[in-house]
Amino acid sequence: MLKDEYVVQVASKGLKAIEIASSQEPPDLILMDIMMPEMDGYEVCRTLKSNSSTSGIPIIFISALDEVSDEAKGLSIGAVDYITKPFHPDIVKARVRTHMDLKVKKDLLEKMSHIDGLTEVANRRSFDLQYEKELKRAQRNQQPLSLIMLDIDFFKPYNDHYGHGKGDECLIKVASELQSIICRPGDLFARYGGEEFVALLPETDAVGARKIAEAMRAKIDSLGLLHEYSAIADHVTMSAGFAVKQPNLKSGETLLEMADKALYRAKAAGRNQVQG
Ligand code: GH3
Ligand code: MG
Ligand code: MG
Repeated sequence: MLKDEYVVQVASKGLKAIEIASSQEPPDLILMDIMMPEMDGYEVCRTLKSNSSTSGIPIIFISALDEVSDEAKGLSIGAVDYITKPFHPDIVKARVRTHMDLKVKKDLLEKMSHIDGLTEVANRRSFDLQYEKELKRAQRNQQPLSLIMLDIDFFKPYNDHYGHGKGDECLIKVASELQSIICRPGDLFARYGGEEFVALLPETDAVGARKIAEAMRAKIDSLGLLHEYSAIADHVTMSAGFAVKQPNLKSGETLLEMADKALYRAKAAGRNQVQG
């Protein structure tokens, strides 16, 4: 009934449904019976809702159980809808369409809430969440955690002379070039604010952090983006500061504060350089 409009996968048992839902390509919507052998629909629903990787998948129960209490129970454990058998195909299709539309919008919102609207790299919110998580993970795994802060040199005069439109174009270009330097899956590159960017590098020590920071600085330097109002070059340059959090080493300053101070030193020492 649905396969002309959607890709449909069928599971004849609860455990199989959980396996598919937990896979790399989870479904956008689950239609599920309640009375099933071994594991009933309520139990499958509870299991899926209690796991963060599957809890966002909407579930519609389709059941011969037509008591109000059955429907109430299904909805109370997290199903988005409840259809009783015998069902009319048009009703099922219409409800599926509604929930698929909602799911697509929800996924888009979720994605947008983590992305910077201008540069399309990860945003500040994304960074803040990941930063807290990685600090804890680094301590647990007894691994160093590095942070690089980068800031465009003399960007205010760039904006003042070329206008905000050109300034925005420059930010987009710089962000995408910097992002391309970050290649490990656990790394995060984000726009911290204005013309400042950050790179969070798990399991990376000072040697590694300096290498990446220097590669980022050199990349922007080599682009040769015209900047006639910079006091130190004829093109756009960046300064970077990095800091490393070693496990078990207590410090009066946070990783972020240390990286920020290192960035300030890079600015004070003449810009277009890395300090750590
Ligand atoms: P320094 O070398 O010390 O970093 O000097 P600077 O001029 O880059 O530093 P400052 O922090 O004073 O200037 C940041 C400027 O970045 C201010 C503003 O003109 C510009 N800026 C911040 N956010 C945006 C943005 O979203 N779009 C554009 N076009 N410009 C922005
Ligand atoms: Mg700045
Ligand atoms: Mg700046």
